[in-house]
Amino acid sequence: MAVMSNLSHLFLLTLIVFFFNLSPSFSSSSSEVLSRFQQYLRINTAQPNPDYFEAAKFIISDANSISLQSQTIEFVSGKPVVILKWTGKDPNLPSILLNSHTDVVPSEASKWIHPPLGAHIDSDGRIYARGSQDMKCVGMQYMEAIRKMKNRGFEPLRTIYLSFVPDEETGGHEGAAKFAISDVFKEMNVGIVLDEGLASPGENYRAFYGERCPWWTVIKAVGAPGHGAKLFDNSAMENLLKSVESVRRFRTSQFDLVKSGLREEGDVISVNMAFLKAGTSSPTGFVMNLQPSEAEAGFDVRIPPTADPVSVERRIAEEWAPVSRNMTYSFKQKVSVHDKFGKPAITATDSSNPWWGLFEEAVKKAGGKLGKPEIFPASTDSRYFRELGIPAIGFSPMANTPILLHDHNEFLSKDEYLKGIDVYVSIIEAYASFRGTSSQGSTREEL
Ligand SMILES: [Zn+2]
Repeated sequence: MAVMSNLSHLFLLTLIVFFFNLSPSFSSSSSEVLSRFQQYLRINTAQPNPDYFEAAKFIISDANSISLQSQTIEFVSGKPVVILKWTGKDPNLPSILLNSHTDVVPSEASKWIHPPLGAHIDSDGRIYARGSQDMKCVGMQYMEAIRKMKNRGFEPLRTIYLSFVPDEETGGHEGAAKFAISDVFKEMNVGIVLDEGLASPGENYRAFYGERCPWWTVIKAVGAPGHGAKLFDNSAMENLLKSVESVRRFRTSQFDLVKSGLREEGDVISVNMAFLKAGTSSPTGFVMNLQPSEAEAGFDVRIPPTADPVSVERRIAEEWAPVSRNMTYSFKQKVSVHDKFGKPAITATDSSNPWWGLFEEAVKKAGGKLGKPEIFPASTDSRYFRELGIPAIGFSPMANTPILLHDHNEFLSKDEYLKGIDVYVSIIEAYASFRGTSSQGSTREEL
């Protein structure tokens, strides 16, 4: 009898252990969820001296609490990329990558109503912090979504990865760029990437399928120098100003398309003057009775990936820096509008891309509304993945929220934050359950 009793105890114990293994308890109250977000926001990862290791420590500890595998890789010393993994039942299928950057831009604390590192929640439920929109919210929403999925006993078919990358705010060259071309990334066999988007003041979420490519253009004019009193043709200043006028007219034509509602901001070519450099300086200021022999202007030009790069460069060469006006041009940065296969670096938003359909459906299922997909007006890390021909969707679930990234008093309301977690649960579950076909959901390299 004693033996039997021990055995039945053992059986009961096994049952209990089995039950807990099936349903590990990772559930959290809203206040715990918000408190984790606040903790992450309070870690000072502001450029130019982000505390990346403190952020990595926090992410890994959170990952451990929900049984995700983790590894930290320094592709560049001092700039850790944290990769988390939830292995799917069929690890041979292309995986899902949820990307976010850990760094934030600096802030002028004196211009904020609450400290930018305080993560204070005011009586209206607004969480004030640098990174509350861009993009610590998204990184933590991924984690919370996975916590919920694990708690429900969800088992992914495809492997899910999360990457927390450094240095996005300084161009990503030492973060996502290095990661995307690494063997580690290749091994991950990524089929779809989710990365950041933008807040939306209206009720619709915004999703981005491409982004404008920076062409930082410098035009330079040369001409004979002369006395400040002399009138003559073809001075460097006169030649440059004619070009500046031509650039200004083009800028107006593009801006008018946006103002009239004919085009979205990301669909036009933007041009803004970044600097003007001319004149002969002296210890007391500029020399006034001298016309300089050189004059330069720099423009931040952004080209949508749908534009024809040849005609854009022709415009620069023929209208902005024509040889006939003794002008030359050069690029300080020129990002190709094409991926490595020579196609526009955009993610399809039609039936040719099953990930897009799944995304749309999943957002809707979670009660979210989605606006028309857009081209991101500036740059994000998504481009390093699109360059490889991998589909990437830029999405930050923040509706009814003013766009405050890089601005004073950046905030996100706690309700939007919590709702966003459920939207991610819906998307990640749909993606992780997607069986696909031999040609669907594969990276283009495999086709
Ligand atoms: Zn960002």
